[in-house]
Amino acid sequence: MNFELLCSQIRALGIEEGDSVYVRADLGEVINNKQHGATQKFKPVEAGKAFIRAIRRVIGESGTILAPAFTRVFIYPFVDKSYAFDPERTPPITGGLSTLLLKEPEAKRSCHPVASFVAVGKNADYFLEGHDENALTYLPIKKLIEYRGKMLLCGCIDSSPGFTTVHLAQELLGLSKKSLLGMLMGVFYLKKGERRYFCYRSMGGCSLGFYKFYSLYNTRHLLASGFIGGANSICINAEKAFEIEYATLKADPRFPLCENPRCFFCRGSLLYNLKDMPRYYCLVAPKKLALSVFGRFGRKP
Ligand SMILES: [Zn+2]
Repeated sequence: MNFELLCSQIRALGIEEGDSVYVRADLGEVINNKQHGATQKFKPVEAGKAFIRAIRRVIGESGTILAPAFTRVFIYPFVDKSYAFDPERTPPITGGLSTLLLKEPEAKRSCHPVASFVAVGKNADYFLEGHDENALTYLPIKKLIEYRGKMLLCGCIDSSPGFTTVHLAQELLGLSKKSLLGMLMGVFYLKKGERRYFCYRSMGGCSLGFYKFYSLYNTRHLLASGFIGGANSICINAEKAFEIEYATLKADPRFPLCENPRCFFCRGSLLYNLKDMPRYYCLVAPKKLALSVFGRFGRKP
């Protein structure tokens, strides 16, 4: 039966009863199953539910699923004043998995105005407690490491590469605040019925270069890989991944920057990457500006 196949594929990646698992997944990839036969019978939402049910079956009642349920953030002065984050109501922008997890009857969500997490299972309260506007952006990931949890990437190994522990390492090393964007990003949120403004100083930023860590994990044989449905997937111990990422970033904070010379975040905003700024602001930024201005005027009505 397909559901049993999903469960066995998840187990084959090293996930066991009692595990706490942080999951990022492209549910479309799980469903688009040409060769691996697990979810062909399901419609999209049903397939997503089956995926969640299968993980819960594997980790059992003593396990916990954790996932990002991130929400909108704005750049000053374009802050949407009609929007205010409310953990009870605001839909996440992190895809179908977090949307479906939030609909689970016992789902919990943390209160961080931009980077809230959703958790379901035994330790949900432990992972989410205290994760509000004053906390580390990636506090639940820090707790996952302390709890010896695992991280699962499903169907987004290339399109949204890498593990969120990299963002935590950047935050603990003080790199997340070294961006020109830091003072400009923010959002309104609701707390105890009151509307407040949150300045998103400690931001995650561009993660398109996080795939560079894959070869480092592999040299220590830390990555388990396989298919879940049609989705190419990898799984790793959070603590061991973090050790490598922290040490690498400490030696070279520029290591995980993406390859795109036009990336504003990596090439034009980071105070620990001043080296790329002259080229970005002299060559790339003027071209981008010209394209946007002339593109606008050149458009046919
Ligand atoms: Zn980038």
